[in-house]
Amino acid sequence: MTWSDILALAANPLPSVLDKVTKSLEEWRAALSPEVFQVTRQKSTERPFSSAMCHAHAPGFYACACCGSSLFASQAKFDSGTGWPSFTEPLRLDGVTYHVDHSYGMQRVEVCCSRCDAHLGHVFPDGPKPSRLRFCINALALVKASGEDHVNQQEKRPKQEMG
Ligand code: FE
Repeated sequence: MTWSDILALAANPLPSVLDKVTKSLEEWRAALSPEVFQVTRQKSTERPFSSAMCHAHAPGFYACACCGSSLFASQAKFDSGTGWPSFTEPLRLDGVTYHVDHSYGMQRVEVCCSRCDAHLGHVFPDGPKPSRLRFCINALALVKASGEDHVNQQEKRPKQEMG
């Protein structure tokens, strides 16, 4: 996966095979802590170095704090020194969506959960080799899931729990 792949996916998103989770803003507000709501549903950015997750490298998966979809694996995690959890690639190609973001006078690529549209963070073309990608993700948008891939557990979950 390269930067040009990211731009191509921003222009032409993949159809997601995941069951969509759709809630109103008020339902999300009721379901999430105020901090998680602000980051994931209002596209706010947490303060850098505000989470111990930046330096955590134990094996496992990182799932969406809103819907539990598995988004990143510990194998792709690296210490970027930025103060936000950083990854070189997503766990699965259709797990996240990309949106060109022109806010704050910058051109950035926003990364969202493709299952519930949570704002996760941004991706930049200045990461380590070989992908050169740096997924800069808010720790508040992630929950750590140990060992087993969380995607498989979700698929077993009954429909009504998916919101
Ligand atoms: Fe999600």
